[in-house]
Amino acid sequence: MVGAGHNGLTAAAYLARGGMRTLVLERRDVLGGCCVTEEIAPGSRASTASYVASMLRPEVIRDLQLRAHGLRMVPCSPSLLVPFRGGAAVPWWPERARTVAELRRLSPADADTFVRVDDQLRRLARYLQPFFLEPPPDVHAQGLAGVLEAVRVGRRFRGISGDEIAQMAVFLTGSLGDFLDRHYESEAVKTLFLANNVYGKHGGPYQPGSALGLLFHLLSGGEHEEQGFYGHVLGGMGAITQAMAAAARGFGAEVVAGAPVARIDVRGGRVRGVILEDGREIEAATVLSNADPRRTFLGLVGEAALPSEFVRAVRGIKMDGPCAKVNMVLGEEPRVGGMPASFTPSERSLFTLVDSLDFAERCYDQAKRGLLPDELWVDCVIATNVDPSLAPPGKHVMTCFVQYVPYRLREGTWDEQRAELGRRVLEKIAEHAPNVPGAVEAMEVLTPLDLERRFGLTEGNIFHGDLSLDQLFFMRPVAGWARYRTPVEGLYLCGAGAHPGGGVTGAPGHNAARQVLRDRGRRSGAA
Ligand SMILES: Cc1cc2nc3c(=O)[nH]c(=O)nc-3n(C[C@H](O)[C@H](O)[C@H](O)COP(=O)(O)OP(=O)(O)OC[C@H]3O[C@@H](n4cnc5c(N)ncnc54)[C@H](O)[C@@H]3O)c2cc1C
Repeated sequence: MVGAGHNGLTAAAYLARGGMRTLVLERRDVLGGCCVTEEIAPGSRASTASYVASMLRPEVIRDLQLRAHGLRMVPCSPSLLVPFRGGAAVPWWPERARTVAELRRLSPADADTFVRVDDQLRRLARYLQPFFLEPPPDVHAQGLAGVLEAVRVGRRFRGISGDEIAQMAVFLTGSLGDFLDRHYESEAVKTLFLANNVYGKHGGPYQPGSALGLLFHLLSGGEHEEQGFYGHVLGGMGAITQAMAAAARGFGAEVVAGAPVARIDVRGGRVRGVILEDGREIEAATVLSNADPRRTFLGLVGEAALPSEFVRAVRGIKMDGPCAKVNMVLGEEPRVGGMPASFTPSERSLFTLVDSLDFAERCYDQAKRGLLPDELWVDCVIATNVDPSLAPPGKHVMTCFVQYVPYRLREGTWDEQRAELGRRVLEKIAEHAPNVPGAVEAMEVLTPLDLERRFGLTEGNIFHGDLSLDQLFFMRPVAGWARYRTPVEGLYLCGAGAHPGGGVTGAPGHNAARQVLRDRGRRSGAA
């Protein structure tokens, strides 16, 4: 296994459980990829990359016994909170009735619409849900395999009505902005939906395909398989991957950090093993890569060992990460304007700063032209309000996810612009929590370039490739190779660049391991 991100660890655990001798090699000194907890100042630890567990598959939690290995998640309640300038901070609760009551205060008509649309979305999400832990439809299957595939996919959509097909088409291809404008009247309600949906991917809210997030966020997650689950992880996101590493080791896998792989050895169209940066060679008949598809195929395998058509397709994957992350230690808790005085610390643990659909669209427009937007969309989590053990008494750890920013700046370099990005993030936060800039004791600004350097994400893309419809399902990572296998025999892709994509889900790792075990069974059955 090349890489110990959460998908690599998940796959390794399943492979070891399935009886394979499994070795995981991670380039960094810390395991977990983008799902880690790291010290950002003496005694203060933060989830330096991903920061909320929303779609971690319940099956993975159960199969790998992550709870027994120490994983504890508490639902984010509220799951979202948007402070409005000069007004109230509006929460979105895990309990639907509470959210409806909040919306009713903003617009009674919108509250009624929400109930109707939410029912619709929940029904539609159930049709897609099974594909999460299954390979995507194989549109190239022929003969009997093609018939069986048509039956499998058809079964998943059994009972879907004509109206639901039309609704599905709207959510898969339409824009979030158009959808919200068509159905809701209150700008505040629309902004709440926006804050809950377009996340980490390319495109402003009026870009076709941006409505997809409405469906994705209703796929179930967490221990109890709840639709729309958002969880804080005690100990930070690294607690997930620590538990996964313990599970993998428990099943017999060897997991080694500080072991960067320089090359995947391919000869005669078949994988032979890997070569480490320190020159060591390790033979293996099966290699899985948890690195992203660009890094895996163009970097570790090399173009010469691959069909030119495939190389062209991999080169064409849209990466170009549009996000950044700022992690900070504060000497006092942010005092957010409009935050209800009755809220407990854990209820005060998150807030999202995005003004409106237009604001987000303008922000993306600037970023896509290579500019650092004048104002930023910032999603803040005060992790210590839920888990005070992350910092010394009296200190607070706040992580801030930032979009949209360009990977390629039109002028200057990110090394020159890093401080300016940090300044603009603080400026945005100060509009709603004026005490924050003066409370900063330590701050780490991770530009898209830093995400690339630190986490090994090509062009800083947090999902190993943009989550747009043309890069999903049977087109992920590229058309024709969506089933974890690759043109190199014995080499598989198991990270977020494979179906069903990014986020801390464990799904690509789970599915890839299943494919490897199936292929292995087939080979030994034939022998
Ligand atoms: C800033 C940020 C915020 C995010 N926020 C969230 C969030 O709140 N919730 C959520 O669900 N998702 C979030 N995500 C997305 C999510 O974290 C990722 O999509 C997911 O963790 C990817 O997991 P992975 O295991 O597929 O890959 P990765 O986590 O990228 O792991 C790949 C591993 O392979 C290793 N590797 C690469 N090359 C080599 C090599 N040559 N040799 C050895 N090892 C190698 C890397 O070092 C890395 O450890 C966020 C991501 C980022 C960066």
